Amino acid sequence: MSVTGRFAPTPSGRLHLGNLLCALIAYLSARSRDGRFLLRIEDLDVPRCPVSLAREAMADLSYLGITWDETPLFQSERSDIYLKYFEHIKKQGLLYPCFCSRAQLHAALAPNRGDNTAVYPGTCANLSPLEIAEKMKSRRPAMRLRVPDETIAFTDSHYGLYSEYLPKDCGDFIIQRSDGIFAYQLAVVVDDALSGVNEVVRGCDILSSTPRQIYLQRLLAFSTPTYAHIPLLESPDGRRLAKRSGDLDLTQLSKRFSRDEILGILAFSIGLLPENRPAAMEELIRIFDWKNVKTEDIRLPAGILTG
Ligand code: GLU
Repeated sequence: MSVTGRFAPTPSGRLHLGNLLCALIAYLSARSRDGRFLLRIEDLDVPRCPVSLAREAMADLSYLGITWDETPLFQSERSDIYLKYFEHIKKQGLLYPCFCSRAQLHAALAPNRGDNTAVYPGTCANLSPLEIAEKMKSRRPAMRLRVPDETIAFTDSHYGLYSEYLPKDCGDFIIQRSDGIFAYQLAVVVDDALSGVNEVVRGCDILSSTPRQIYLQRLLAFSTPTYAHIPLLESPDGRRLAKRSGDLDLTQLSKRFSRDEILGILAFSIGLLPENRPAAMEELIRIFDWKNVKTEDIRLPAGILTG
């Protein structure tokens, strides 16, 4: 079966070297097998994701020589589509309104998931219709999805077996926020399925979202793509790269390095090249092999960025 891969950035800041690494590996994985490659802009949270940053992300990818096959999807334009699938889940009787504030959720439990969200303690899981009507008067609820008493396991093609016992490791999760915006978990599942994506390559900070996404695929009768998570990049001082910190973006890097030098730094740091040297995209497509992609997080050596 031919591969359809994708890169799906959230343009809440400029892409940093870690995001570019993820785009590169997703791209190489698809293109090295003559596959299709799609771009999706995950700008559901419109105020945090201005179109200027989406344009910048596309320009950064193009600068590196990463190309995509169809007009990119913008999630901000697709709420009607998400609504249809939301309704489908609602009909299955699995949603309930949740009136908890962010502060209440923080107070209830310390975060204990990899993605820094707390397992929901079930505060609103069994409200009576009367209680719901009363609470509706003062607060618009988020909509939460009940998880089954079940373990969902899958084999990540890079990290191997990963499983979560949903009630304990995950908990009921939000699929529509109180401001009406559909949650990432729903949008990503709908979009990957409708675009025919059959290979998802992304940072391992999202590994723990995958069982939730597989559960949603089951409810919506979508097939499950192959998942391959990749390690994260840390700055030379051991910080996880973040869009907020504005470090290691292409404006700064391209002042000091050529395009092929940047590709070489990325390829070397993830294990695709045995030494740090310039590399053209065509060469990387030719030599790409998942066997060489590291699994442990990567701290960029200080020297690598001093040129
Ligand atoms: N939009 C997510 C991010 O930028 C990635 C989602 C995904 O690849 O599934 O972190």
